[in-house]
Amino acid sequence: MVTPKAYYFDSNATTSVAPEVLQAMLPYLTDRWGNPSSPYRLGKMLVDPIEAARESVAALIGADSTEIVFTSCGTESINTALTSCLYTQPGRRHIVTTAVEHSATKNCGAALEARGYEVTYLPVHADGSLDLEAFERALRPDTAVVSIMWANNETGVLFPIPELAARCRSRGILFHTDAVQVPGKLAIDVQALGVDFLSLSAHKLHGPKGVGLLYVRKGTPFQPLVIGGHQEEGNRGGTENVPYLIAFGRAAELARAVTPAELARLAALRDHLEDSIMTQIPGVTRNGAKEPRLPNTSSLAFAGVEAEALLLLLDQLGICASSGSACTTGSVAPSHVLTAMGLSAPAARSTIRFSLDHDSTEADVAYLLGHLPGLIAELRAAASPRVAARALAASAAQAR
Ligand code: PLP
Repeated sequence: MVTPKAYYFDSNATTSVAPEVLQAMLPYLTDRWGNPSSPYRLGKMLVDPIEAARESVAALIGADSTEIVFTSCGTESINTALTSCLYTQPGRRHIVTTAVEHSATKNCGAALEARGYEVTYLPVHADGSLDLEAFERALRPDTAVVSIMWANNETGVLFPIPELAARCRSRGILFHTDAVQVPGKLAIDVQALGVDFLSLSAHKLHGPKGVGLLYVRKGTPFQPLVIGGHQEEGNRGGTENVPYLIAFGRAAELARAVTPAELARLAALRDHLEDSIMTQIPGVTRNGAKEPRLPNTSSLAFAGVEAEALLLLLDQLGICASSGSACTTGSVAPSHVLTAMGLSAPAARSTIRFSLDHDSTEADVAYLLGHLPGLIAELRAAASPRVAARALAASAAQAR
């Protein structure tokens, strides 16, 4: 099957495997296929490359390589951080997180609640920013961990992690951040962030799907989630996924090489896309604050339009975007992130997320802008005139 040409505006869902990353991992799928725990050369020869990959991902976040635990994905990293904090502090049965986390955190919290733990989901303001007073009020002597994402995957809105982590540290509460959306878009320095745990996933930075990491600050009490062999210093059982670890290391090198000039280009391209849509098409509102925000993400509500229908039309043209986080695609339930920001269910269902990448070009954006106004007009014309007029009026009132 030939892969169709894609105008890809969905890099918060996943990114392509970079050619350099593929080149780096291929020998570990062919000649170097041993088990790193084996006593003979075919296995032992893999130990140094894995450690080099560990050094590389550690360098991406300003950590020491001994503070890195490789995992199978961002979701596993997040689950590991939360459960570790509960296992190592049995007297503390309360978790604080936000109402806008990725389902990896949200549903882990729900599962822990079903097992008798207590979880506080902090509200956000209409612009997606955190309610800091609610944050202060939520911290308790029995809080085991505060887990707050750095960058929201749907809106790109950033939370003030250094400030939040410092407030937790001063009260002796462990702090985890889901930084899955951040690499290659912002510089990461775990020392400046002051976090105890941080989760990443390779497929958001041009590595393969199915490999992630958990940063665990030196000296932080830790208990594994995946219990088995002695791999990862006993911190995560399971034979190492060698090709993917090597790939993650190479992807981290590429993410570290992203220049400030490239980040400025990305932000300018995103702004051009967002501004053009908002000036060329009536009834469009941005979800979330303009700043502080990831430089690549734009979440826009198109009044009176069903995002799922728009996505199908865009797909016919080879344009890939998202109606919310990837994990909710296929379900018509409005995004929990957007509803937590106060959007009505119809406004949430009219939202499209465009997420650009270092591969995105002006020509890609021009192609999208060339088609989008016509598609929106078509969908609005197909809706009943009364419904469309009401949606446009509501959108205009919200914009005022
Ligand atoms: N956290 C955020 C913010 C994400 O965007 C994602 C993936 O979409 C995850 C966690 C989960 O990562 P993974 O797909 O590696 O499990």
